[in-house]
Amino acid sequence: MTDSTTSKPHICIIGTGLIGGSLALALKHADFCGRISGSARTEATLTKALELGVIDDYSTDMDVAVADADIVVVCVPLGAMRAVFSLIAHALKPGAIVTDAGSAKQSVIRDAAETLDEHYTNFVAGHPIAGTERSGVQAAFKELYRQRRVILTPTDDTSPDALHRVSSMWHAAGAEVETMSAEHHDLVLAGTSHLPHMLAFGLVDCLNNLEDVNEIFRFAAGGFRDFTRIASSDPVMWRDICLSNREQVMAMLQRFHNEMMIIKAALASNDGEQLQAVFERAKKARDQFCG
Ligand code: NAP
Repeated sequence: MTDSTTSKPHICIIGTGLIGGSLALALKHADFCGRISGSARTEATLTKALELGVIDDYSTDMDVAVADADIVVVCVPLGAMRAVFSLIAHALKPGAIVTDAGSAKQSVIRDAAETLDEHYTNFVAGHPIAGTERSGVQAAFKELYRQRRVILTPTDDTSPDALHRVSSMWHAAGAEVETMSAEHHDLVLAGTSHLPHMLAFGLVDCLNNLEDVNEIFRFAAGGFRDFTRIASSDPVMWRDICLSNREQVMAMLQRFHNEMMIIKAALASNDGEQLQAVFERAKKARDQFCG
């Protein structure tokens, strides 16, 4: 299960972008692995990853890239997971562990269950709660996971040894690992990550559709920038996240809509007390939970 010259695992990262590239850099820095191979959609990304020292070698053929790997980490957009699993399943060596970094977990587990065949028990679904609004291997940095949480969502089928090895990998990258069910993950992340991205994208699009858009954005100050920073995130990645976690995101959007209706009704009836009560509850919660 290891590189024979170093007795450290051979890692293969499929999707050497921000998330996969940062993991590779962190694992190299921690001296966790013997060799890191890479694969991605385009050769330009792979030559860049090689040039930046993110990977040691690559193949544009994903099944070739994974052939010797002990641990394969799939870091592609959610909409591409299933196709990647299908491509690599026949080429994985016996006992190879497969994990992923996708931002929704039930859809990835379904994709893996339907495509990885006998390797499925060695599949460990994962999600690093770390990132930036930037994408691509150029944005990768080794400190991304330091003291950040990684959630693993094993199922009843997941091999305890595979879970242990994937946990060790993320620990080596500097992260704190937690486990929970995929259902719980998708519910929690719909509220804390997916909904905020919808709001940021929706707000910027709404203002951009107004007539005097230049004038409006000219006066956008710090608060607007803070609130909308995540609207600079990759649209394809976020399209895939919303579609993969559709039910939970729609439920959260409905709850948010209800909250906005309360605020709107307070404004309509000139009810300052009600407005202030909402704002005070929100400030107290934010101060308590986000410091
Ligand atoms: P990224 O920087 O855009 O990197 C995506 C990588 O996937 C690139 O190497 C890309 O190759 C490859 N790829 C794209 N489309 C593909 C396809 N159809 N088939 C095969 N490979 C494909 O994205 P990222 O931010 O690293 O996100 C990767 C995963 O991590 C996503 O599942 C996302 O949900 C998850 N995640 C992201 C964040 C975040 O804040 N960014 C946080 C946690 C988890 P090319 O460069 O050659 O196109």
